[in-house]
Amino acid sequence: MITYEDFFSRVEKVEARIAAACLAAGRAAGEVKLLAVTKTHPADAAIYAARHGLAAVGENRVQEAAAKRPLAAAAGAAALRWELIGHLQSNKARLAAETFDRVQSVDSEKLVRQLDKAAGELGRPLAVLLQVNAGRDPAKFGCEPEDAPRLLEAALAAPNLRVDGLMTIAPLGADAAETAEHARRTFANLRTLRDEFATRFGVALPELSMGMSADIELAIAAGSTCVRVGSALFGAR
Ligand SMILES: *Cc1c(COP(=O)(O)O)cnc(C)c1O
Repeated sequence: MITYEDFFSRVEKVEARIAAACLAAGRAAGEVKLLAVTKTHPADAAIYAARHGLAAVGENRVQEAAAKRPLAAAAGAAALRWELIGHLQSNKARLAAETFDRVQSVDSEKLVRQLDKAAGELGRPLAVLLQVNAGRDPAKFGCEPEDAPRLLEAALAAPNLRVDGLMTIAPLGADAAETAEHARRTFANLRTLRDEFATRFGVALPELSMGMSADIELAIAAGSTCVRVGSALFGAR
């Protein structure tokens, strides 16, 4: 685990990248939130994020987050928000609804039903994003773009879920140039889908969660409102 001083200089660099990308895209810097991805790191990573004033952390495993969240809260990071960004099995929906403030990786109607039921039992609405395989990566989770309208319809009809928007992960390419090309296409696809859905379903869907350490700039240029950054903040996993 890196030191807080190292984290501090890394987070300043990432925030400067976000600000520069917003400027280049003619967007206000406040439009893009930084989600610190703390997966595989100890609870200290979340505590660092809170100490720097970041609002939220992202985790990709339910049990790992459920173990770390109370540790971070006990160390003064009780206000930190926790978001699930990894694939969720529907048998873990209940623990996910208990552990997370928002689930970004909703990719099936079954998961919509399970999360809705769990949130109803807990007596509090759960914020979600729908994960779309906008880059058609066979190795990635997320619903296929053509299945997304049905998934959105189901999520909008779930009384205990609040649909904030869409999330995607860009597929890797054979080299840096191809990876960048995939990222551009994937992010543009997600943005187009969001705009289509907003019109077709009459909902705002303000959140577009796209962009990671390597492609923050491309994601912001394409309209990202939430970049999920791990290695640029905490080092290699
Ligand atoms: C791990 C992960 C990230 C962060 O990736 P980095 O390249 O370390 O910034 C972002 N999104 C998801 C879904 C992840 O699983």
